[in-house]
Amino acid sequence: MSAQPGIDRGHTDDLMSFLRASPSPYHAVASAAERLEKAGFRRIEETAPWDGTAGGRFVLRGGAIIAWYVPERAEPATPYRIVGAHTDSPNLRVKPIPDTGAHGWRQIAVEVYGGVLLNTWLDRDLGLSGRITLRDGSHHLVTVDRPLLRVPQLAVHLDRSVNTEGLKLDKQRHMTPIWGLGGVEEGDLLRFVAEETGVAAEEIAGWDLMTHSVEPPAYLGRDRELVAGPRMDNLVSVHAGTAALIAAAAARQELPYIPVLAAFDHEENGSQSDTGADGPLLGTVLERSVFARGGAYEDRARAFAGTVCLSSDTGHAVHPNYPERHEPGHHPRPNGGPILKVNVNQRYATDGAGRAVFAAACERAGVPWQSFVSHNSMPCGTTIGPITAARHGIATVDIGIAILSMHSARELCGAQDPRLLAKALHAFLEG
Ligand code: ZN
Repeated sequence: MSAQPGIDRGHTDDLMSFLRASPSPYHAVASAAERLEKAGFRRIEETAPWDGTAGGRFVLRGGAIIAWYVPERAEPATPYRIVGAHTDSPNLRVKPIPDTGAHGWRQIAVEVYGGVLLNTWLDRDLGLSGRITLRDGSHHLVTVDRPLLRVPQLAVHLDRSVNTEGLKLDKQRHMTPIWGLGGVEEGDLLRFVAEETGVAAEEIAGWDLMTHSVEPPAYLGRDRELVAGPRMDNLVSVHAGTAALIAAAAARQELPYIPVLAAFDHEENGSQSDTGADGPLLGTVLERSVFARGGAYEDRARAFAGTVCLSSDTGHAVHPNYPERHEPGHHPRPNGGPILKVNVNQRYATDGAGRAVFAAACERAGVPWQSFVSHNSMPCGTTIGPITAARHGIATVDIGIAILSMHSARELCGAQDPRLLAKALHAFLEG
């Protein structure tokens, strides 16, 4: 299939399906849940009493999912092995009063979510996704996966200096997508969404809607050794973590730890929400699982003290056109395997002990790995790792895969790395 030896496309093909099925965080958790249910995991409600019997379970809350597998021999103080990730990506989200327009164009008012690389959203065919909440409190996914909206760039003739002075975009004035012609009609978008979703417009009581690029992910390159696609930050990790948890659960009673997948929403704006990593969701789930197995606070403290979290998110591959922006001695490259992310100022939670855990997992998996650290004069990004470590007192290691064009509407990674990441996560979860 490929001239590039050693690229196993099965996992990456599956990732592409996952990306396409997951235009919003709500879809991402539904995609993960569907895979977990097929593997025998059972959804449980936070409002119901829990039992501590063996088996796979998961909790869904908005755009977050926590899934775990209790092995037969688990005790109340059995520690966890957690893969952490996030389900959200920067994008353009629909404002409360969405119907707008000017000069004969119909437009949708949007709010910029997270650190969007704004120019990458120009002249792209955009769909609409998210969820609606009906009067009865039920949620329904919204999926319009066809060209519907577009943020048109100004023609070069009307912006002569754009290529020499750089493109300047104002989030409020320049990012409003068009979605047709005609006058502004109040309620137009919601009527459209109701039709698309098969519900009565007057039943819609709330909505969380956003736009996405409808161009499907694709292999790219001389030997198709790269993958271009949307939302790889950080659905690559959600997908790999889900696959790793399902594979680990297949080992059943042999597991020395309780493997967990924790995929949070709202990482792109700081994780402070009830579904974000800075909320109590993960801690509450882990505690309730200890108590459901008959444990007391002592068991909870012992379990947490022995727990390790691999926080998986994307990092920067070295850019061939901007090598000066990268640390010269640390050049992660695509298909070189997962990256260990280090920042001594705790923008990443990794320390030497964490390095040892990650290196051991990669060794067991037969997976190469690389080190990432920022150039001292460049600000370092951060992710859910330090938040998880600080909030729950859990030893945490920040890892991920190296990509280009982070936060673009269409990012780029090696075709092999998602599978190498999943293998390393699986070995980690199995202990
Ligand atoms: Zn990320």
